[in-house]
Amino acid sequence: MKTLAAVLEKINNPLRIEELTVPELKHGQVLVKIAYSGICHSQLNEIGGLKGEDRFLPHTLGHEGSGVVAAIGESVKKVKVGDLVVLTWLKGSGIDVPSCQYLKGNGGIVNSGAISTFLTKAVVSENRVVRIPDGIPLKEAALFGCAIPTGAGIVIKAIKKGYANSIAIFGLGGIGLSALLAARMIGVPSIIGVDKFEYKLEKARQLGATDIINAKKGGVLSCIMEITAGKGVDYAVECSGSRAMMEAAFQSVRDKGGLCIITGNLPQGDKISIDPFNLIKGKGIVGAWGGGTNPDIDIPMYADLYLSGKLKIGELIGDMCSLSNINKALNKLKKGTGGRILINMGPSQRFKK
Ligand SMILES: [Zn+2]
Repeated sequence: MKTLAAVLEKINNPLRIEELTVPELKHGQVLVKIAYSGICHSQLNEIGGLKGEDRFLPHTLGHEGSGVVAAIGESVKKVKVGDLVVLTWLKGSGIDVPSCQYLKGNGGIVNSGAISTFLTKAVVSENRVVRIPDGIPLKEAALFGCAIPTGAGIVIKAIKKGYANSIAIFGLGGIGLSALLAARMIGVPSIIGVDKFEYKLEKARQLGATDIINAKKGGVLSCIMEITAGKGVDYAVECSGSRAMMEAAFQSVRDKGGLCIITGNLPQGDKISIDPFNLIKGKGIVGAWGGGTNPDIDIPMYADLYLSGKLKIGELIGDMCSLSNINKALNKLKKGTGGRILINMGPSQRFKK
């Protein structure tokens, strides 16, 4: 069986669309015919070699998507053939199979981790799939793989008591906008969006940001202080992966209980600097691994929020592209685009139950 895949052959090179042979399924693996895949900044970091030495080249990419189960390997219990599933990089229940290798026409090998989604058919580990709850369209379902749990998840889990006066979101890509949707859903009165791209700021405004700050113009911290009458925000969520923004995010939270949550990634080895006196004054800083998500429990929870009309996931979706245009889509992501770009792998009727 063949699959089309966008393959990273060399760091900083465009992905190459290649026809690969799908390997026989091993114990714990699931073959998924992909319907949609999201594109995340994480993949830009991989392509740009920002995650450190890449020992797995050439390899496939992508870590959020949706599709239909086409086959299951031995011992797989979580899903069956024909099930519609979310593919997520977040580990859930089930067998963990950390790697897989596809074959090229010339006999060469293409590596893949436990999950890849920039393919028409992908072999993934059982613990990276979750059945899509009934009623969720495949397009929206793809965002349950990363953008929703990471962005909305952070806000929903951090604001446990269900109340916050103000939140600043730094970086308004898929994760940041997802955090923004959740803040709006919870009813946070003051939602401040920070980014350097006007288009993203406009999208944030449309999705409910009460204030927007263009980071390119500088003075982000003083703008936030002005908006909050000098107090600082209750929560700052950092999704931009910029050192300056991380430092500003921490400083922007209020004394005595403000919390900065870091989720953006810096190039490997880069550091941020903070003044410890701010910690003494009661500003807090934590990181969040995928929004602290347990996919088996939380994806159905986010699905319920979507189905009840509270979490408007559809508003997050930006441009659609085909797999053959993936390099154009990656460039668009680099330049800043409104909403999460999705790759449509084929006609959706193929994926009906
Ligand atoms: Zn991601």
